[in-house]
This record gives sequence, C-alpha cells and structure tokens, in this order.
Amino acid sequence: MKKKKIINLFVGSNNQGKIKEIRDLLPKTVQILTPKYFNLKSPKETGATFKENSFLKAKFFSKKTKMICLADDSGLEIDSLNKLPGIYSARWGGKKSNFNLAINKVYKELKKKNKNWFKIKQTARFVCALTIYWPSNKFINVIGIVEGTISTVKKGNNGFGYDPIFVPLRKKLTFGQMKPKQKYRIDHRVRAFKKIKKFF
Ligand code: IMP
Repeated sequence: MKKKKIINLFVGSNNQGKIKEIRDLLPKTVQILTPKYFNLKSPKETGATFKENSFLKAKFFSKKTKMICLADDSGLEIDSLNKLPGIYSARWGGKKSNFNLAINKVYKELKKKNKNWFKIKQTARFVCALTIYWPSNKFINVIGIVEGTISTVKKGNNGFGYDPIFVPLRKKLTFGQMKPKQKYRIDHRVRAFKKIKKFF
C-alpha cells in the first residue's frame, strides 16, 4: 500500500533561521504551521542528546496541536572542547540567541584549552536530529551530520548561528560565506531530511 503523504505539518521550532531552511527543504505542497501561530513556547530541552531533544519537542508540539509534528535539534560539536557546545549550541547565545556571543564563547573556550588553538586543525561537525511525531504516537528519528573545521576568524554574513566559523570538509568557504543553495547541498539538516523525504 502507498504511504500517506504528509500535507499539514507543524514545525516545532521558534528559530526563524531553521524554519526558513526547513520550509525550503520541504515540497511546496506541504502546509506548515509554527509555534508562533498557536502562540506556543518551546519546551525545555532536558534531553542528553540531540535525538532526545528533537523527540521531546516533536512529542510536546504534537500533543499540544494534535497535528503531525516535525522537530529538530541541532548543534555544533567541537572535538577539542569535548563536543561542546553540542546540545548547548543555542544556549551559548544567551537568552536572546545572540550568535555573536556564542561564537565569541567558542573562541574563548578554544583559547582556554590551548593558547595556540589556531595552529591546530579544529575538527568539528554539525549534527541534526529530526523527529516526526504523529498524533497516533507513532514516531521516527533520523540523524544527519556534516564534518568540518573551525575557521580562525568569522567569515561571511549568510545563514545563522555558527555558520560564519564552520568550514565543511573539502571546502574553502565557511557556511556563512556560501549561498544558501551551496549550503543546502551538504548541510546536516539536508542530510537528515533526505532520510525522511519519503513521508512528504
Ligand atoms: P536548537 O536545535 O534549537 O537547540 O538550536 C541549535 C543551535 O545550533 C542553533 O541555535 C545554532 O546556534 C546552532 N546550529 C544548528 N544548525 C546550524 C546551522 O546550520 N548553522 C549554524 N548554526 C547552527
């Protein structure tokens, strides 16, 4: 039997940068609603992993809205910082999600670890966990990853979050310097999305 395609979808995120990317990734036939529409706040991200946090957000919003809900949890893992900021990626930007603050914290922490941090290739990755949660309590989880390194200075004004300091593997530009189209070809969210494409 052919799988029923999702037409109405609640996207459980209050991050406008992410909502834009998700909208761009879904077929135009999918009608999207976001927490703003219902005046809903995101739940506390109490999980220990990206997967747990995407699950708890998707379930929370699906229960509140009685809709099929897609939620993601994503972030940047830097190896020399023991995978931080990781699930705390958004929180490093403070209450107002100030990405400059978050990036400055990355540089401060790298310097704290090793004053010569910029002489060493700082390997890192963006991780994206996606969960689709149905009102019937069915759910699926997938993960997408893009490996790369941390740029020694901020470069570019495109994208959001840590984009200006992340250089994907085998590329010279940061995500912040790339056009959205270029970033979408390889980023973690796209890689995770490919795994759930069949539902749309
Ligand atoms: P959360 O998934 O809402 O907890 O937030 C994840 C955080 O990770 C974002 O606020 C960004 O700081 C960072 N992040 C996730 N994906 C990206 C990306 O594609 N580019 C830049 N930063 C990202």
